[in-house]
Amino acid sequence: MRVDRILAPNPGPYTGPGTNTYLISSDGCAVVLDPGPVIDSHVAAIERAAEAFELLSVLVTHTHPDHAPAANLLGSRFEVPVLGFAPGPEFEPTSTLADGDIVEVGDVMMTAVHTPGHTDDHLCYRIADVVFTGDHIMGGSTVIIEDAAAYMRSLEKVRDLQPAHLYPGHGPEFDNASAAITEYINHRLERERQILDAIRKGAATVADIVRVVYVDIDDALIPAAAFQVRTQLEKLEDDGRLTWLRGAADEEEIVRLVEETRS
Ligand SMILES: [Zn+2]
Repeated sequence: MRVDRILAPNPGPYTGPGTNTYLISSDGCAVVLDPGPVIDSHVAAIERAAEAFELLSVLVTHTHPDHAPAANLLGSRFEVPVLGFAPGPEFEPTSTLADGDIVEVGDVMMTAVHTPGHTDDHLCYRIADVVFTGDHIMGGSTVIIEDAAAYMRSLEKVRDLQPAHLYPGHGPEFDNASAAITEYINHRLERERQILDAIRKGAATVADIVRVVYVDIDDALIPAAAFQVRTQLEKLEDDGRLTWLRGAADEEEIVRLVEETRS
């Protein structure tokens, strides 16, 4: 198997250096993973790279606008199937993939691994000890999580596959996969501890918690941080760790810890 990375020219706070489009090939055949946004120069670069192979399909990890919109365009130009977990705003799969489904790449088989958390529709793809992680695990940019409990379970799911190499949707590849995944899991647990600690010390609203937990954050990322705190509070509420009275305005909102008993 050979992996070629084609970097999309869409750098930013949520995309790091840009989206990693992968051309994964074996035995003269290839698939394109996460073709990214429709940017002419990027689409042309993918086409040039793919022309050396028999292209079999175009895949996406999820339907975010930095990953999926060029998929249908490439699918029709090469007349190949377009595959992903579910349709999205700018993505219409010719057929959908579920957890455990197999996608052929020449003489190797790639397995779809459903990894909800970043989004409900997120798939990683595994070939032997290599996992393409999309935005589930990414190098050097902010991972936004929609469901903290599902995200944690999906991190454990990928860890349990015991991969050696990770190819993320943004940033450089990871050669020490288990260390990277452990770091991600520990980071989530640490955030949870920081949020509980902030509430214990008097933070009672999402805005309070953001101020305490995300101290040196760029202003542009504050809405994303608030979204992450809300996601984490939902999980902690489900876990029975706190009560969260939601208000339309910050000052109407009250987050309280459920009485902690110590043994
Ligand atoms: Zn994403």
